[in-house]
Amino acid sequence: MAILVTGGGGYIGSHTVLRLLEQQEEVVVLDNFVNASPQALTRVAGLAGRAPHVIEGDVCDAALLTRLFATHRIDAVIHFAGLKAVGESVREPLAYYQVNLSGTLTLLAAMRAAGVHHLIFSSSATVYGQPEQVPLTEASRTGGTTNPYGTSKWMVEQVLRDLALAAPEMALVALRYFNPVGAHPSGRIGEDPRGTPNNLLPYIAQVAVGKLPSVTVFGNDYPTPDGTGVRDYIHVMDLADGHLQALRHSRDRTGFSVWNLGTGRGHSVLEMIDAFRRLSGRDIPYTLAPRRPGDIAECWSDPSRAAVDLKWSATRDLDDMIRDTWRWQSQNPQGYSSE
Ligand code: NAD
Ligand code: UDP
Repeated sequence: MAILVTGGGGYIGSHTVLRLLEQQEEVVVLDNFVNASPQALTRVAGLAGRAPHVIEGDVCDAALLTRLFATHRIDAVIHFAGLKAVGESVREPLAYYQVNLSGTLTLLAAMRAAGVHHLIFSSSATVYGQPEQVPLTEASRTGGTTNPYGTSKWMVEQVLRDLALAAPEMALVALRYFNPVGAHPSGRIGEDPRGTPNNLLPYIAQVAVGKLPSVTVFGNDYPTPDGTGVRDYIHVMDLADGHLQALRHSRDRTGFSVWNLGTGRGHSVLEMIDAFRRLSGRDIPYTLAPRRPGDIAECWSDPSRAAVDLKWSATRDLDDMIRDTWRWQSQNPQGYSSE
């Protein structure tokens, strides 16, 4: 039996595919490469010593999914495929609901028709909207999302909850990621954003390597220790391992489950810049700017439910995250087009 990984060519997907291959799983990747390079999977195969089966195609293509499930013996799906740029989602809401919501509905319908019952879905801490308090537990209030990207993740969670009631044979899991960063320690695979990065750590990394002149710090008047935004950054390899544990745990279970995947620790923007400067030895100039619309002051997880249920906790600290990001960025200044 094989595991279908949608969006397996992307940032989190490629690291997870590598871990699955290392665990001797058979992996089928479905990706249309709108935000990924096929190079990532070539390098994954190099690291693992074996390759996933790669299908180039769209998760919204119902006929393709029907063929895929008829051709490959799939027993579980890890569903990463989606669009993820918050600002773009405000400008292009239909595209975001089409891929993130409708694509997931199409996938679920094809899974049901094929008798595939097991799904792990990439949700996000964004479903908590404006947190009432931190740390966030899985029982914290969700909703109140402020952009179509976040709303699409929240809507899919409601769909999964309803489907689990209607189809009691299904095991449906939503993993709420906090802020994924870092790269595989080999420096061979990592995050390769197209154009100017939206997220903090890839932005800092591009300043460190000389591609961008300085970091803009969005707001230093938040009610946080140094006034800048605080987030729960989690190493992408820890996140990949969280998927493996969730897959293992839910294999013989049914129903809808949700777990936070975070470290339980928060770091401010200025802490991130300082740590990157220390570990890369590079100058990281920054300028202070007003708050970014829609941003929240602080967001970090209570990851204890995953520790108890999944026997999973993050093992890599901030220095590991930054060292691995820097190795990837400095060895691949142009991302996957460096080679
Ligand atoms: P990514 O953009 O690197 O990966 C997504 C992958 O899906 C890409 O390879 C892309 O080519 C593919 N894809 C997009 N639309 C597709 C379609 N219609 N059909 C087939 N493939 C398609 O993003 P990522 O950071 O690896 O994120 C993976 C998932 O995790 C996404 O669903 C994202 O929303 C979610 N997530 C990411 C973060 C984060 O900060 N990176 C945080 C929380 C949740
Ligand atoms: N941030 C920043 N400058 C940037 C990008 C992000 O100051 O160029 C801040 C942002 O305001 C937030 C933190 O860094 O406090 C993390 O932002 P990111 O976009 O990486 O993640 P998210 O906002 O989704 O948590």
